[in-house]
Amino acid sequence: MIQVDNLVKHYGDIKAVDGVSFEVPDGQITGLIGPNGAGKTTTLRMMAGLIQPQQGKVLIDGVDTTREPQKARALLGVQSDMLGVYPRLTPREQLRYYGRLQGLRGDQLEQRVEAVISDLHMANIADRRAEGFSRGQRQKIILGRALVHNPHNILMDEPTQGLDVMAVRETRETMALFKEQGRAMLFSTHYMDEAERLCDQIAIIAHGKIVACGTPQALRAQTGHNNLEDSFIALAGEGLVRSGEMAPHPEP
Ligand code: ATP
Repeated sequence: MIQVDNLVKHYGDIKAVDGVSFEVPDGQITGLIGPNGAGKTTTLRMMAGLIQPQQGKVLIDGVDTTREPQKARALLGVQSDMLGVYPRLTPREQLRYYGRLQGLRGDQLEQRVEAVISDLHMANIADRRAEGFSRGQRQKIILGRALVHNPHNILMDEPTQGLDVMAVRETRETMALFKEQGRAMLFSTHYMDEAERLCDQIAIIAHGKIVACGTPQALRAQTGHNNLEDSFIALAGEGLVRSGEMAPHPEP
C-alpha cells in the first residue's frame, strides 16, 4: 500500500504539485489522470524518491521514502522512461544490473532475471544489445527492471503510450496479473478508455491538486455523465477554473 500525504513541489511560481494526498491500496489498480502539465509526473517522481517534496510525505508499506529511502525503494518498482535504457547492454545484463542495485546476488538474482524475461515474453530479445530497440522493446526493459526485485508496489508512468495494439494488450494483461497477485499499483495515462477499463479507483489531478478521486462509476455519478471522458473534462475543467487557470463558461 502507498500513502501520499499532502505532497508539495513548487518550481518558482509554478505550483507543480500543491498539496496532493491519496492512497494506492493493495490488490487494486489506481489511475492518476490529468491534463498536460497537471502534475502527474512530478507526483510520480516524488513517490519514486527521484525528487524531494518541499512538504508532505510518501509511505510505501508504512516506510517513509525520505527517512528510509533505500528500504522504501526495495518495496517499490518504478516503470518510467525518464531513466532511459543502456544501449550497449542486453536486456538480461540490464536486469542483472538493476537486480544487483537492489541487493540480489547469485542464484536468487538469476532466478528473478529469468522470471522477468519469461513473464514479459522477452526471451527473443533478452541477449541482444539494446541499441536500436523499438519503443515497445525498450518499454519491456524499463518494466522488467522495475520488477526484478519482485516489489509489492508498482508505479507506471504512461505505460502504454506509443505501443502497438498487441503490446498494449500485453501490458494491460501484466497489470491485471499484478492486481491478482495483490500488489498495489498506480499508473498515469491520457487514455480514458484504458483508465475506465483497468482502474478500481481514479485520482484526477488538475493544476497540482486532486480534484476528484473514486471509482470510475462514482466519478460518472458525481458528474452525471455516462462516460469517464466527459466526467474527466467536467472535473478537471472545474479544477482549472477554481485555480484561476481557465475562465468559467458564461451562463447561457
Ligand atoms: P504531461 O501530461 O504533459 O506529461 P504532467 O501532468 O506529467 O504533464 P508535470 O510534468 O508534473 O505534468 O508538470 C507539472 C508542472 O510543473 C508543469 O507546469 C511543468 O512545466 C512544471 N515543471 C515540472 N518539472 C519542472 C522543472 N524541473 N522545472 C520547472 N518546472 C517544472
